[in-house]
Amino acid sequence: MLRRLINLIDSDYFPQGAETVRAMPERFEFSRAVPFIFLHLGCLGVIWTGWSWTAVWVAVALYFIRMFAVTGLYHRYFCHRAFKTSRPVQFLFAILGLTAIQRGPLWWAAVHRHHHRHSDEEVDAHSPVMKGFVWSHIGWLTSSKNFPTDYSTVRDLAKFPELVFLNRFDLIGPLLLGALLFGSGELLAAFAPHLGTNGWQLVVWGFFISTVFVFHGTCAVNSFAHTLGSKRYKTGDESRNSLILALITLGEGWHNNHHHYQASARQGFYWWEIDISYYVLRALAAMGIVWDLRSVPKSAYELGSAETKHN
Ligand SMILES: [Zn+2]
Ligand SMILES: [Zn+2]
Repeated sequence: MLRRLINLIDSDYFPQGAETVRAMPERFEFSRAVPFIFLHLGCLGVIWTGWSWTAVWVAVALYFIRMFAVTGLYHRYFCHRAFKTSRPVQFLFAILGLTAIQRGPLWWAAVHRHHHRHSDEEVDAHSPVMKGFVWSHIGWLTSSKNFPTDYSTVRDLAKFPELVFLNRFDLIGPLLLGALLFGSGELLAAFAPHLGTNGWQLVVWGFFISTVFVFHGTCAVNSFAHTLGSKRYKTGDESRNSLILALITLGEGWHNNHHHYQASARQGFYWWEIDISYYVLRALAAMGIVWDLRSVPKSAYELGSAETKHN
């Protein structure tokens, strides 16, 4: 248990060796489930703190900002390098990503690159086809085997010491988010009491409730996006396209498109495939914050229309 506590602070702390942990069998571990239970139980704090429109809007805004941080930044930038930015902005992107409470950017990218290499195969950590829906949604996150960051697969990111630092001490994200919410809630209680909010109320709505929605929205890409929806491309796995999932996850629902061509900044390949993260990236590009957004290749459109006719 003490090791787990130290590992909570230092994500690279594995006294038995990261390789040994990665070679362990996959299994449910209660101590690894505790943070998720804590996150969900924290929502019950609403019984004591109540609600206000300010708190609800903070929760909604944090859902959209952090879902974009996961899909637009952790996924499309850190994992797939679908666009470019400066080193200081890359650092800020990593900090924003940490506030989604999905561990560090290098761990996230390493796990996801492995998913693309072995999608719906036995070694895929979160395949609903191989391991069942519940395991692919949340179970895999309770197994120590999936915890060490495989730095060998993210060498392009590991050359930045500031990113390795944030990846190692990813607890910075939740601490920062909690402190910001509590501090601003207390300030509002003191200087704008008519809003009817306070520190603990913003923590319950902005930290617990909002994060639970971001968490399950992201997990749905592992579970639902490989079970429900349509297939445009024969990708050799069960990845699907789903409008509903694309709306919930700000564009990640076009998962079959993405499995076919991963390097594009755009996952909704057509104008009617709503992809809010891509629109945000376009806006950031217009402001000069990001650049060189990689587009969908002509071959993907040609193959897409040929396979649609074939079906
Ligand atoms: Zn997938
Ligand atoms: Zn991907």
